[in-house]
Amino acid sequence: MSTLKFDAIVVGGGIVGCTAAYFLARKGLKVAVVERDGLACGTSSKSFAWINGTSKTADEGYHRLNALGLAGYCELAVEFGEQALGLHPAGSLQIVRTSDSTNHATSREKLRQLEAFGYPAAWVDNNALRTMEPHLTLSDDAEGLYAVSDMNLNAPQFVNFMAEQVRALGGTVMESCAAQSLEARDDGRITGLVTDNGVLRSETILVAAGPGTPEVLTELTGFDGFAARFPMRKVPGLLVRTPDTSPHNFVRRVVYFADGPELHVLPDFNGGLRIGADDTDGMTDADTPAEELRRVACILLERAKERLPGFVGADCIDDCTLTVGLRPYPNDGHSLAGPLPGAEGLFVIATHSGVTLAPALGRLMAEQISTGQTPAMLKPFLLDRIEGLG
Ligand SMILES: Cc1cc2nc3c(=O)[nH]c(=O)nc-3n(C[C@H](O)[C@H](O)[C@H](O)COP(=O)(O)OP(=O)(O)OC[C@H]3O[C@@H](n4cnc5c(N)ncnc54)[C@H](O)[C@@H]3O)c2cc1C
Repeated sequence: MSTLKFDAIVVGGGIVGCTAAYFLARKGLKVAVVERDGLACGTSSKSFAWINGTSKTADEGYHRLNALGLAGYCELAVEFGEQALGLHPAGSLQIVRTSDSTNHATSREKLRQLEAFGYPAAWVDNNALRTMEPHLTLSDDAEGLYAVSDMNLNAPQFVNFMAEQVRALGGTVMESCAAQSLEARDDGRITGLVTDNGVLRSETILVAAGPGTPEVLTELTGFDGFAARFPMRKVPGLLVRTPDTSPHNFVRRVVYFADGPELHVLPDFNGGLRIGADDTDGMTDADTPAEELRRVACILLERAKERLPGFVGADCIDDCTLTVGLRPYPNDGHSLAGPLPGAEGLFVIATHSGVTLAPALGRLMAEQISTGQTPAMLKPFLLDRIEGLG
């Protein structure tokens, strides 16, 4: 094992790491993925996994990066087929009421911004809403923003598929294999990675360790400042997955309800529903006791029952899967991606919306690593915007 040599090693077998490894392998690089536990066992398996540019309208560059993620999924779907990827290109709906002037105006403004960016979206009236989502309880003044190109993903399936492609392209994927530390020459140039399976030789290491990125950088480099200085926080989020006995055809696409208590729902790949809400995210974290988690999940299930007549609500709690995932959330809200300043050969991707962004950041990072040139679209997201890092 200690003699294995690679052109690049990726630390982290989540959606970001495996997708980046795939694009590196497609460039002809000999790649290894090193995953501490199992593939997609981190945040990527606890994600709502709505692929969208719809919720990112504040900054044009960041919106376009997300749109590039959607384009990346479309290209992969042409090559491999939607089913193999676990991709569901059904669009999304955000529902508001005309009587709620603040939310209504915000959504209309969002549509205006999306149109200005050339992102496919349209306003749908009450009749159209009822036709598109016939099983919802809707008020007579409900209307919606329909984003036709949004999708949702079976993220664990996609991660495993990307890993398979890495292997098919001659790469190596190691599970139950934690990265421990870097090996470097006297001049600081990286020469390898010490792992649970021995030393792997490479002059290029990409850290894609999700919420664990600051700690992994600290372990690898031996510089404990990363844990405090890396500008990212871990933002918890509760996801409820209902059992396959609760029919998922209550909704046909991602539905965001902004016309009452917060709720977002989509048809899950297991035949049930995936359910979350922004306000209940704040009520849980990674240490929330099971009983409390159950209580918060019941709130979500009851909200869903209000909106989806026929759905059993909290009665199915015993058969639901409840997870709290930690979002790797950069402090300024935008992806951190590129070379780590002051550490030649060490690269990082840490991002929220990693499901949407994985194909965009993976491809751009493969370009950066294989050519040594920073693609224009990556420039706003480089780590050199952070003072005091490296
Ligand atoms: C509730 C919730 C809802 C979300 N909804 C959406 C959404 O709708 N759309 C969207 O785009 N995004 C969404 N996100 C965000 C998205 O899920 C994440 O941005 C994405 O999953 C991050 O992927 P990752 O590969 O960076 O991290 P992870 O999936 O956490 O992968 C990192 C991997 O690194 C491994 N690792 C850590 N340390 C080491 C080590 N020392 N050696 C080797 N391996 C190591 C871990 O075991 C892990 O498998 C949501 C997140 C949550 C929690």
